[in-house]
Amino acid sequence: MVVKEVLLLGDPTLREASEPVTDFVELADVLADLKDTLTWAQESYGMGRAAAAPQLGYLKRVVYVQMSERSFYLVNPEIVRRSEETFEVWDSCFSLEAAFFVKIPRHRIITVEYRDEDGGSHVEEFRDDMSELLQHEIDHLDGVMCSDYLRDPRDIVMKVEWEKRYRTPGIGM
Ligand SMILES: [Zn+2]
Repeated sequence: MVVKEVLLLGDPTLREASEPVTDFVELADVLADLKDTLTWAQESYGMGRAAAAPQLGYLKRVVYVQMSERSFYLVNPEIVRRSEETFEVWDSCFSLEAAFFVKIPRHRIITVEYRDEDGGSHVEEFRDDMSELLQHEIDHLDGVMCSDYLRDPRDIVMKVEWEKRYRTPGIGM
């Protein structure tokens, strides 16, 4: 089991674009470390549903989702359709140490093309919670943080206040 250090906002690696995966055999370490590190982070923070490889310092286009109802990897994910309809979400990130939350807009529905860890191709539509979660994670692959979408600096809320006022199950990270 390898729990990697999670890079924090300010680390320039988080701002780099990740490389597409071409060799699925060499991916084994990234997959295992993502799972181990996300499991550790979920236990430590008591929240969070997914992580992206660049947060661990791997500049590879890999995302791992781990929820009670579904766990899966997305390799080379690409959002090929976004609904015009948006909705507001409270978002945070392990790379912010979930120290604060930001209220930002996300697309309501997205369609994602991705490979699984064995190279199989998938096209899947995601809505609501899963949609905003995957927009957050896929952004990491392009060096984008959820806080980049802030429109009003007053939409930043410290974690303790957010938990008092807004906490709902299954918030994105
Ligand atoms: Zn994040």
